[in-house]
Amino acid sequence: MSAEIISGREIADEIRAELRERVAALKDERGMVPGLATVLVGDDPGSQMYVGMKNKAAKEMGIHSRQITLSAETSEAELLGLVDGLNADPEIHGILVQLPLPDHIDEGKIIEAIHPAKDVDGFHPISVGRLATGSDDFFAPCTPAGVVEMLVRTGHDPAGKHVVVVGRSNIVGRPLASLLLRKAPGGNATVTVCHSRTEDLGAMTRLADILVVAMGRPEMIRGDMVRPGAVVIDVGSNRVDDATRERGYRVCGDVLFDEVKDVASAISPVPGGVGPMTITMLLANTVTSATRASAE
Ligand code: NAP
Repeated sequence: MSAEIISGREIADEIRAELRERVAALKDERGMVPGLATVLVGDDPGSQMYVGMKNKAAKEMGIHSRQITLSAETSEAELLGLVDGLNADPEIHGILVQLPLPDHIDEGKIIEAIHPAKDVDGFHPISVGRLATGSDDFFAPCTPAGVVEMLVRTGHDPAGKHVVVVGRSNIVGRPLASLLLRKAPGGNATVTVCHSRTEDLGAMTRLADILVVAMGRPEMIRGDMVRPGAVVIDVGSNRVDDATRERGYRVCGDVLFDEVKDVASAISPVPGGVGPMTITMLLANTVTSATRASAE
C-alpha cells in the first residue's frame, strides 16, 4: 500500500492563511506592521534567489519587508554597524543575514550581533542555548520548526514516539533533536541522532517510529532501511544530473521516495515537502516577534 503524502506545500498554505489573520489583527488592534529585514552581502545567485523568495513571501503576507543588498567588499565593521541599526529600528522585528558571508567576515560575530529578540533565524547562541535548556523565550530555526509543524498538523505527534534523526548539523539535525526533546507541544519524543560515524545506519533507521533524514546524500535511505508503517520526513534537497530533463538536472531528497513510499505509512516528498515550510516558519517567527514587541 502506498503511503499518505505529507504535503509541506499544503501545510505551508494553511499556516500562511493563519499568519495573514495575525498580521491583520496586529494592524487593526495595535496599528503595527511586522517588519523583516534581510541582508545579503555579495552577488551569489543562490543567495539572491533565497533572499528574493523570502521578501516576496513576506510582502504577500502583509509583512513590511526591507531587503538590504551590500557589495561583496563590505567590511565586517560596516556589517556590524548595519545590524546595530536594525537592532534599534522599531519598524524591524526580524533580522535575517543570508549565509554564507564572504570569507573576510566572521559569521559567528555577525550572528551574535543580532539581538536575540529579532533573531528570527534562531542561530544566535542565546537562541540555541534557550532551545537546548527548554526555555520558551526563543525562536526555533526555521527548517526544524517546519518539520515539527508537519508532523503535528498531520496527526503524527512525536510525543512518546521514537524519532530517529539522520544528520547533526547546526541548522537542521541538532536543533531538531532539541525541539523533539522539549517538554512541550511538538516535543516529548525519544530521540536518536545518527551521523556519518554511526555504525550500521540501517539498523538505527529501522528502529524509528518517525524517521527524519537531513544528510544531503541523494536517495540514500532505501526501502529496507525503514520500518514498515513508519512516518518519514525527508529534509534533503539535492540536485542530481538528469539528461531527460530540459534543465539537465532534477531535485531529489535523501530518501528514495519510490521505494520508501511502499513501506512507510506517511512520507513527505521532495520537492513540495519540507522546502515550502522553511520560509513559512521564518514568517511565523517574524509575526511572533512583532506580537511580543507589541505587548511591551
Ligand atoms: P550538512 O551540514 O552537510 O549535514 C549533513 C549531516 O548528515 C551531517 O551531520 C553528516 O554527518 C550526516 N551524514 C552525511 N553523510 C552521512 C552518512 N552516509 N550516514 C549518516 N550520516 C551522514 O547538511 P544540512 O545543512 O544539515 O542539510 C542536509 C540536507 O537538507 C541537504 O540536502 C540540504 O540541502 C537540505 N536542507 C533543506 C532545507 C529545506 O528548507 N528544504 C533546509 C536546510 C537543509 P557528520 O556530522 O558526521 O558529517
